[in-house]
Amino acid sequence: MNKAELLGRWTKEKSEELYGIKNWGAGYFSISDKGEVLVNPYKDNDSAAISLMDIISGIRDRGLDMPVLLRFENLLDSQISFLNNSFNEAMRKLSYKGEYRGVYPIKVNQQQQVVEEVTKFGQRYHHGLEVGSKAELVAALSLMKDKEACLICNGYKDEEFIDLGLYAVKMGFKCLFVIEIPGELDIVLERSQALGVKPNIGIRIKLASKAGGHWTESGGDRSIFGLNMSQVIEIVDILKEKNMMDCLKLLHYHLGSQIPNIRDIRSAVLEATRVYAELVKEGAPMGYLDLGGGLAVDYDGSNTNYSYSRNYTVEEYCSDIVEAVMSILDSSNIKHPVIVTESGRTTVAYYSVLLFNVLDVETFEEYEIPDQLDENISEQIKNLYDVNKNLTLKNIQECYNDALYYRDEIRDMFKHGRISLRERSLSEKIFWNTIHQIAKEKQKLKIALPDLEDIESAIADIYYCNFSVFQSIPDSWAIDQLFPIIPLQRLQELPKRNAVIADITCDCDGKIDRFIDLHDVRTTLPLHEMKNGDDYYLGVFLVGAYQETLGDLHNLFGDTNVVSVRLNPDGTFELVREIHGDSVADVLSYVEFEPKDMIVNFRKTAEEAVQEGLISASERREIMRAYDNGLRGYTYYER
Ligand SMILES: *Cc1c(COP(=O)(O)O)cnc(C)c1O
Repeated sequence: MNKAELLGRWTKEKSEELYGIKNWGAGYFSISDKGEVLVNPYKDNDSAAISLMDIISGIRDRGLDMPVLLRFENLLDSQISFLNNSFNEAMRKLSYKGEYRGVYPIKVNQQQQVVEEVTKFGQRYHHGLEVGSKAELVAALSLMKDKEACLICNGYKDEEFIDLGLYAVKMGFKCLFVIEIPGELDIVLERSQALGVKPNIGIRIKLASKAGGHWTESGGDRSIFGLNMSQVIEIVDILKEKNMMDCLKLLHYHLGSQIPNIRDIRSAVLEATRVYAELVKEGAPMGYLDLGGGLAVDYDGSNTNYSYSRNYTVEEYCSDIVEAVMSILDSSNIKHPVIVTESGRTTVAYYSVLLFNVLDVETFEEYEIPDQLDENISEQIKNLYDVNKNLTLKNIQECYNDALYYRDEIRDMFKHGRISLRERSLSEKIFWNTIHQIAKEKQKLKIALPDLEDIESAIADIYYCNFSVFQSIPDSWAIDQLFPIIPLQRLQELPKRNAVIADITCDCDGKIDRFIDLHDVRTTLPLHEMKNGDDYYLGVFLVGAYQETLGDLHNLFGDTNVVSVRLNPDGTFELVREIHGDSVADVLSYVEFEPKDMIVNFRKTAEEAVQEGLISASERREIMRAYDNGLRGYTYYER
């Protein structure tokens, strides 16, 4: 700690650095002079910035409880513009002769509101949709209006799916079928003949190029989707034979999501563009090169090729792609195609923030220990006490090992009845006091001792928070994904506590103990001490992509309240949509309980209690009211 920190002269600038908000916030999030987190959809225009605490109080005044998933319409709008402008700018700079047409893959966040807003905000760029199933196609067609935008159909397609897509073509939509497996072509050709509609055909290929990262199994020879090169040639031959080569318009691949390394992106584009050029030489009209998703989000703000980061900017991504496509096609004199990307994660990640309050804190205090021990106390406890008293920076490692050793010995003795509960309690105090001393000494060390790596998390506070990891940030649990988490207030104050976060599912996996860091992964999160009676709010940021539909009902915590806000340029905001989260009755009905029957059954039980004289008739009324309230309540902790 430096002197300013010791004197408590903490500033919002220090919080900005500590929590890395400028690194991962993409200009949308910052900290106010009051020490509150601000959201600003217009990046540079500070007068439009709004405090999340003001939004929370607006939400609470309207009677909605935490946790709340907050969506910012403007951020979706802004990300779509950003992506389109970046591609358009790269194309202009490099004199690219084709165009960019983005599509939004519905699976990344299928909520009606999200898809509707994408189509609305995307219209001025002809930003389209990508669907991977019949249900998604049905959803897309209910919202799509723009006939210039692409509607890309991936996934396994049955007759119903194909018929619907062909009707869309007939109605003037730019609907393209991407062939994923060889057998699919037959049905497409058969149905198009039956309906008398010429299909737009694309092929998805397996590239030899593979990417590093978490979700990148979609690339490579063994990827489950896409055609290998001999299958591509078979398709070309079938189309030629049927005189339908003019239908072959698009080449597609998807390397996987969240590709952290720009080199992998570039090498895939080069390989795919070579295939594109060959298809043109085979006589296909082509016209669309669809590079799939993969554009990563810098969740930890480190700007590296770490799995939850990316070592490139969106602008670099765009210009590298355009350049790579041109480098191959110009040498063969092939017309520049429309470049399509299916960026989902980048489009929606920033859009949502999960807000919740802290319910309680458990601290692992540094217990006071006596100045000297009772003469008659057990030898092992004396030994542990000596370890505590003789601790220095030099023997820190040895002391740590010894403390663990004696603690285990003493616990064993207790089990065998050789020491009392009182003695055991004293020994635990000495042990934890020692661990605290070691953690303090360790800060003076210049080198890292691997054995002591986790010592901070061993004494970290547990902040119990009003949310469910499984419902709201499933990837944090399932694949250890990191999301930026920060307090929303008091950021001009030094956060004195180191904490891990526990949710309210009572599941030992319902916790967060890995946090973003520029160089590593932190095992604790610096937080402020709770003041008696004051609310303390945390936000989990960048949760707009993939989290909502993967969430589950673990311990019957249901959907959270969702509030959509529109931020105005003058620094005000309006709630444009409120969706109340699941009630207890809702989640119970998902698992086949019938709330009406439940009330009848419970009333019967209560009536029996009246008959037995355990409760009075008017108590029965009160009890039934409580039961009814319970059913109607929010599944989370209510005030
Ligand atoms: C999931 C998926 C995407 C979205 O990828 P992001 O990395 O989220 O942009 C795009 N295309 C296909 C085919 C997908 O399966």
